[in-house]
Amino acid sequence: MHTPDRDRRPGFGTLAVHAGQEPDPSTGAIMPPIYQTSTYVQKAPGEHFGYEYARVSNPTRTALEGNLAALEGARHAVAFASGVAATDALIKCLRPGDHIVASNDLYGGTHRLFRQVFGPFGIRSSFIDMTDPDAVEGALTPETKLLWIETPTNPLLRVVDVRALCDKARARGIDVAVDNTFATPYLQQPLALGADLVVHSTTKYLGGHSDVIGGVVCTNRDDWEEKLRFLIKSAGAAPGPMDCFLTLRGTKTLHLRMQRHCENAARIAEHLAAHPKVGRVYYPGLPDDPGHDVARRQMRDFGGMVSFVLRDETLEKALHVLSNTTVFALAESLGGVESLINHPATMTHASIPREERLKAGLSDSLIRLSVGVESVEDLIADLDRALAGV
Ligand SMILES: *Cc1c(COP(=O)(O)O)cnc(C)c1O
Repeated sequence: MHTPDRDRRPGFGTLAVHAGQEPDPSTGAIMPPIYQTSTYVQKAPGEHFGYEYARVSNPTRTALEGNLAALEGARHAVAFASGVAATDALIKCLRPGDHIVASNDLYGGTHRLFRQVFGPFGIRSSFIDMTDPDAVEGALTPETKLLWIETPTNPLLRVVDVRALCDKARARGIDVAVDNTFATPYLQQPLALGADLVVHSTTKYLGGHSDVIGGVVCTNRDDWEEKLRFLIKSAGAAPGPMDCFLTLRGTKTLHLRMQRHCENAARIAEHLAAHPKVGRVYYPGLPDDPGHDVARRQMRDFGGMVSFVLRDETLEKALHVLSNTTVFALAESLGGVESLINHPATMTHASIPREERLKAGLSDSLIRLSVGVESVEDLIADLDRALAGV
């Protein structure tokens, strides 16, 4: 990927559109073909074009990996069949007896994977409030091998100071992984803040159109890349070429979509904060949000996710709002062009035991919005109509 001026690194938008891709040399096709093949013919035994078997590698996947690595400013990107498959491969690089310290406010599936899948294999995990440096200090043990950071957190949109935690971890030889799904590399680049690994569910903003499941791990560490490539080959959580193609089409407009997601979310957060029926609004872009200052330091903008509770925090009233929007669709997931409304307690975070949920500050009446790129007036009118009924 070169700009006319070879000394200048291309800007984010140029990388989003072009990185990892060259016109197809045999036809000039501007989009990388969907290499729907399981194997590759060799000229002589062991003499091939760099591709032997499609579980291990595929040219459409290579193009996607080149694109995602460029967006995260990483030397390597390894694409997986889903976000949890990416996380699964990363945790399989640990050993029985190792310990993970993770945020207590995170993607429910990550909690389930750490506790219910890896727990029985002897990998322990502690879930704590990562915005509290003393809580992090208190959770570290000599066995701790990995800090797992999500920021902004899901669903309370707390902001974790990535650089501060990376400094703390490095001093003790602990690796840091950041799940950057909510922020995307357009808003935040954890490797530049000191992280060893960045994980994405590309299902969300990177794909951006709610039509594909995928994941990726980005890293500058050659040892980690080698371990992850070994796991793709040996455990097989490979993404298909069609899915890689769709994700690659999504990333071309990531910067444009994120600008609108952020703009719309900021308008909605301000509107809700001033609404008489709304209690607390969780959005790091609000000046009085506890994460505002750290977010301003480590993020370009504040993202497209907004959570809130009603002033009258009853489950019944929250369910009324959740069932009465028409533009916001009631669904799990996030990061697509369309706006979604979600009830973490019964939907995305139902796999976390209720007591742990409440302890983490995640109330039964919390409502989470994934603000899409529709006309913001329609989104505000939709929420107002649903709120009027409570
Ligand atoms: C959705 C999500 C995941 C899991 O990704 P899948 O692609 O659904 O497997 C992980 N982390 C976060 C923050 C997510 O939102």
